Amino acid sequence: MITDRVAVIGGGYAGFAAAVTLATAGCAVTVFESARTLGGRARRVEAYRITVDNGQHILLGAYAQTLALIRTVHGAGAEPELLDRRRLRLEEPGVFRLSTPALPAPLHLAVALLLARGWSWADRQATIAFMRGLRREHFRCDSALSVGSLLSGQPAAVIRALWEPLCLAALNTPITVASAALFLNVLAAAFGARARDSDLLLPRVDLSSLFPDPAAAYVADRGGEIRKSTMVNGLAARADGVTLRIGYGEERFDAAVLAVGPHQLTHLLFDGGGDPRASQALNQVAAFAYEPIVTAYLKYSTPLELAHPMQKLDGAPGQWVFDRGQLDGPKGLAAVVISTDLPSTRIGHNALARSIDAQLHRLQPSLPAPTWMQVIAERRATYACIAGLARPAPGKIAPRLWLAGDYTDAEFPATLEAATRSGVTAAQALLRESG
Ligand SMILES: Cc1cc2nc3c(=O)[nH]c(=O)nc-3n(C[C@H](O)[C@H](O)[C@H](O)COP(=O)(O)OP(=O)(O)OC[C@H]3O[C@@H](n4cnc5c(N)ncnc54)[C@H](O)[C@@H]3O)c2cc1C
Repeated sequence: MITDRVAVIGGGYAGFAAAVTLATAGCAVTVFESARTLGGRARRVEAYRITVDNGQHILLGAYAQTLALIRTVHGAGAEPELLDRRRLRLEEPGVFRLSTPALPAPLHLAVALLLARGWSWADRQATIAFMRGLRREHFRCDSALSVGSLLSGQPAAVIRALWEPLCLAALNTPITVASAALFLNVLAAAFGARARDSDLLLPRVDLSSLFPDPAAAYVADRGGEIRKSTMVNGLAARADGVTLRIGYGEERFDAAVLAVGPHQLTHLLFDGGGDPRASQALNQVAAFAYEPIVTAYLKYSTPLELAHPMQKLDGAPGQWVFDRGQLDGPKGLAAVVISTDLPSTRIGHNALARSIDAQLHRLQPSLPAPTWMQVIAERRATYACIAGLARPAPGKIAPRLWLAGDYTDAEFPATLEAATRSGVTAAQALLRESG
């Protein structure tokens, strides 16, 4: 049977979404992960003997697939211990504040926009009319349209305070080139149905503990196997199964899900083994550009005095600050995030950390000098979600071989939700084929 022995290559959120789906259906799954820590681009790292993440992440209430999988592996009632859920609130102190009240959708957003601080009456009216127009069009637009073009005619103050930071946070791509269609998909998911969908969910645990680690335990409990620190060096997909090259040896599986990052695909598939679907995926991925995300951790001996665990910064150079002390982390630990490739980040890590420290001191002058600072730059954090970009779909790309990964999801930009959706879609397609 095609599902007797299934390999999942890649132990990130996509790989484990596939592995959990397959294990639930009774398959014997083996997950291969080249790193020692599970989670891929969303994983635990140690800094100065404190557990942090390779990058601060935010989830949305609209991450239906990710939240369902978290419930599957942790149990139904675990969310409050794992995630700090709050109604959407965006604030840059002294500049702008938007906070959604406890009202049903879409009223919650309309009222939030109406009461937004820092904008003129005309700005607020224009933004409400803009959102109404998007809703009328069912949040759809031409796939070649950029977010910048979508926003043409919108008030500059609202673009600067709201749309640009949201686009950077969701798509990690500058608004001038970012895909309006994917941006609208995120707006539709967050604001199109229930008020809860626009909630911000901030992890209270590290990103490996949030899903990949318990998912690994779930798979192992169902007869599966997790092979960490094991790099798959190549594969051959044929009508009777998939052979993986591991070290100097080979191992045969009845089927495989390939859930590596887009830039890691070529290493495994080479020329696509002659299958046109694999060759097309390789060609599409070869045209991708990538965007970095920098997270700087700064530890102070006194607590931060932020009113909320997440706050917008002025962009000089940090864009957002997260108070990890309010998220079950150590008191006085700040995580400051900078998305996309900005000139301000193209300096040494020490200089960048010092500049962020100065920025936090402008926000809270009473802060002492940091006891330590650590900058983590993920150079290929996400593919650039550029308007009109052709991407592979999650699904079969060669005999007995299915593709997953954040870059394959049609609806969401490169996010945890895109990753988990793709993993589940690929696994379900595999299961359907086995009958
Ligand atoms: C700094 C940063 C901040 C982010 N912020 C957010 C956020 O706030 N919200 C959000 O939703 N998303 C965010 N993202 C995006 C999110 O982390 C990714 O979209 C998601 O983790 C991608 O998951 P994936 O499983 O598709 O790929 P990956 O996580 O890249 O997983 C692929 C895995 O395959 C393994 N692998 C590769 N090649 C091989 C091989 N040959 N053999 C064995 N294993 C292999 C890799 O080691 C890796 O673990 C952020 C990403 C970064 C880097």
